[in-house]
Amino acid sequence: MDITLQQVSYAYAKNTPFEKRALYDVDLHIPSGSYQAIIGHTGSGKSTVLQHLNALLKPTEGSIKIGDVEVKAEKKSKQLRKVRQKVGIVFQFPEHQLFDETVLKDIMFGPMNFGVSEEEAKRRAIDLVKLLGLPDEVLEKSPFDLSGGQMRRVAIAGVLAMNPEVLVLDEPTAGLDPRGRKEIMDLFYHLHKEKGLTTVLVTHSMEDAARYADRIAIMHDGKCVLAGTPQEIFSDEVRLMDYRLELPQSIKFQKKVEQMMEKKLPVLCLTEEM
Ligand code: ADP
Repeated sequence: MDITLQQVSYAYAKNTPFEKRALYDVDLHIPSGSYQAIIGHTGSGKSTVLQHLNALLKPTEGSIKIGDVEVKAEKKSKQLRKVRQKVGIVFQFPEHQLFDETVLKDIMFGPMNFGVSEEEAKRRAIDLVKLLGLPDEVLEKSPFDLSGGQMRRVAIAGVLAMNPEVLVLDEPTAGLDPRGRKEIMDLFYHLHKEKGLTTVLVTHSMEDAARYADRIAIMHDGKCVLAGTPQEIFSDEVRLMDYRLELPQSIKFQKKVEQMMEKKLPVLCLTEEM
């Protein structure tokens, strides 16, 4: 399912003394099956874009096309429920949204609320707990008796249980240790590759964008100032510096190796920390 933002502007608390413009004329095309990273500093507009991706927010001006549904400021659409089902969002610290008595019930809640049978919802919950590397026993436990990392996985399972076509991730590894971060990021990458799940990663980590994404968009002061493949984005270090962004360490390393090879210098002793 493609998502296309066309000239999207957004103002919070519009027509009040507290009006705050958060987005200005954002154009962004996220093709079906891609892994799109959205990067930018705090306050650049990433979360505001993210909330447009499943119509939690509607543009103040411009439009967004989510699959075949067009979302515009004035236009009422009965299809928003369908959109919300197809675009799953893993918000920051998603474990804060856990609420049910048991892990099983928590994961089943979303799909059952959207008309999936109890049997099917249960099957999805059991499969997802396995996929996320949790032991079967957690299904009957209270989510609040689990470790932080396990709670995060259960919350992610709850989003995946809706069988979304697009998965939007808002800093999904915030607060996790490096090992937990890598496990979760690798899992999302696996879902993207194996199931063709269109993935949108909102992050301030250039490194994660370089490692996983096939397209990168840079947000700055409410505008999408750069968009393209990682090669295109990372080829212009000077431009990135205009937006106070640094090349990821892995790309710096790669460039250093290329420079040394050009000069025919030995590269055997280089490490990525240089
Ligand atoms: P990011 O996710 O990149 O940190 P946001 O999309 O949260 O950026 O914010 C973009 C701008 O909108 C910021 O100036 C922020 O202060 C403002 N903003 C975000 N949420 C609200 C809100 N609920 N009400 C008013 N202003 C907001």
